[in-house]
Amino acid sequence: MKKVKILYKNEIKEVDDEFAVEMAKMAKLALPKIPIILWLSRHEPLPAQIQFLRQKIPHCAVIQYPYPLSTANDAVKLIQQFQADYVIPVLPLSFIAHLVQESKKHSFIILKAEMELLHNCSTETPFHGYSCPEYVEHMDVVMQSKDMQTEQTIYRHFRFREFVKLVDIIIKTEPF
Ligand SMILES: [Zn+2]
Repeated sequence: MKKVKILYKNEIKEVDDEFAVEMAKMAKLALPKIPIILWLSRHEPLPAQIQFLRQKIPHCAVIQYPYPLSTANDAVKLIQQFQADYVIPVLPLSFIAHLVQESKKHSFIILKAEMELLHNCSTETPFHGYSCPEYVEHMDVVMQSKDMQTEQTIYRHFRFREFVKLVDIIIKTEPF
């Protein structure tokens, strides 16, 4: 049994996944129907992201499933279990490409967060980039990575802009 988080109205509840599946069934029977958004990431949504979703999809419930998935089929299974109308996957591109194919067969919509790279935060300030004067807590993410050549830590500062529907991933090739 795994714990998942359900965000509905102004409440966040941590419940067993089986219980969440039962709640999802009830949500489908509610009038009006409660749209279900499945959030596949160990990172919690930003407040600005939740606000955006609520504006676009009123009365939605967000189920956060924070565990790693080994195949794209696992993601599809979860989407079906939770009867998700929308899925927000923070997963490798190969996973997402598979999900896009599945979304055409089933009736779920894939949403992608558009994060704008503002800059690399100054590393002169000693801590994590959160000391960045431009950091806005409810809409920003600072991602830490390492410059392979200089071994220096880089803090990439992103800002959430919007969610878009992911309708296709196209792989283009040319003769080699
Ligand atoms: Zn910054």
